[in-house]
Amino acid sequence: MSEKLTNRSAALFEEAKKYIPGGVNSPVRAFRGVGGNPLFFHGGEGAWLTDEDNNRYIDYVGAWGPLILGHRHPDVIEALQTQLSHGLGYGASTEAEVTIAKTICKLVPSIERVRLVTSGTEATMSAIRVARGYTRRDKVVKFEGCYHGHVDGLLVKAGSGALTLGEPDSLGVPKSYTDQTFVLPYNDIEALEKLFEAHGKEIACIIVEPVAGNMNMVPPVPGFLEKMRELCDHYKSVLIFDEVMTGFRVALGGAQAHYNVTPDMTALGKVIGGGLPVGAFGGKQEIMEMVAPMGAVYQAGTLAGSPLAVAAGMAMLNAIQKPGFYDALNARTLALTTGLKERAQAANIPFTSHQIGGMFGCFFSGEENIHRFEQVMACDVETFKKYFHHMLQNGVYLAPSAFEAGFVSAAHGDDEIQKTLDAAEIAFAAAS
Ligand SMILES: *Cc1c(COP(=O)(O)O)cnc(C)c1O
Repeated sequence: MSEKLTNRSAALFEEAKKYIPGGVNSPVRAFRGVGGNPLFFHGGEGAWLTDEDNNRYIDYVGAWGPLILGHRHPDVIEALQTQLSHGLGYGASTEAEVTIAKTICKLVPSIERVRLVTSGTEATMSAIRVARGYTRRDKVVKFEGCYHGHVDGLLVKAGSGALTLGEPDSLGVPKSYTDQTFVLPYNDIEALEKLFEAHGKEIACIIVEPVAGNMNMVPPVPGFLEKMRELCDHYKSVLIFDEVMTGFRVALGGAQAHYNVTPDMTALGKVIGGGLPVGAFGGKQEIMEMVAPMGAVYQAGTLAGSPLAVAAGMAMLNAIQKPGFYDALNARTLALTTGLKERAQAANIPFTSHQIGGMFGCFFSGEENIHRFEQVMACDVETFKKYFHHMLQNGVYLAPSAFEAGFVSAAHGDDEIQKTLDAAEIAFAAAS
């Protein structure tokens, strides 16, 4: 296949770098993990993206998670148009906020009270503040490879030992902040028990991605989430599920419904905004009543509950409640990962894949079960890079990193899956 023309993207990137740090407004958009220039897009329709040179791609990024219905779903567009004709925001309450809050509480029953914010980062940051206020404790437990937005105290790299206090992962984060964070290996039940034995009474909360989606995609091993629940009950710590990615993505009720483990608090984002900037945090009434104006934990937002974002989010939440939505999404995603494994095997490339609902992970690895951070880090990144660029050349847009999860939308039909698998056949052969 001939090289695609990406001249306009390349020119825009050169121009962007003059005014925007690294040319991007979020580092994941740069192609640092795969090499080459990032693409600039001017349109999306269903499962497809169109770049500035008018190349079309089947999209598995989905705006990094929100677009579970695909691009420009008619219900979302219509809801936005209706709201546009009424106004952009009033800085005061609206009926739609009540409707979306009620819907979130219904779909995720562990959430008895919910507050809307404008990003996933704000949601996790606020949830932690509330958990600290509620428990009157400072320490937070997080896991290696989990990302919870760019919250200061959570930008902590892999600790060496289970009980080691974390080192800052980013410049500009005071050590005194990350000193409040314990970092444990994901899926290590024993390390979790040991940490609580030693420090349980100081721990305000555990924050965890119930399916880790920021180190490729790593599901929890049986007992891992259950152990957290048990320890948090015993030590009266707050269990926070960061479902910014997994919420309405792995199942209608999120990972907590899929695994049947109930957290005290949940952070949401991505899908609930329908593609507009939204986040939310919620949980038990008793805990959420700590939040201002009821309680003494301060939290606020000028654009929180933006009528446009709420309209898009509500259209999304209505569409995903249609019977059979997740069964179809799951089947489509499974067809994709099964097909990818077959084609990798045919090309003699060590490869495995995980999938739950509309979320998947691909690993260039000979290991059958990937459940630890070190296994993810040991994957063959060089082969992934080649595969990525061959997929791109053949019209498939994957996240430009070996450590990101992939997303299938309801707009991905059999035809798109087949086209993707045809591209993968070429890409695996070329990458081997
Ligand atoms: C994306 C993500 C966040 C951060 O959300 P932003 O809207 O980018 O601030 C937090 N937690 C998880 C699990 C995420 O995937």
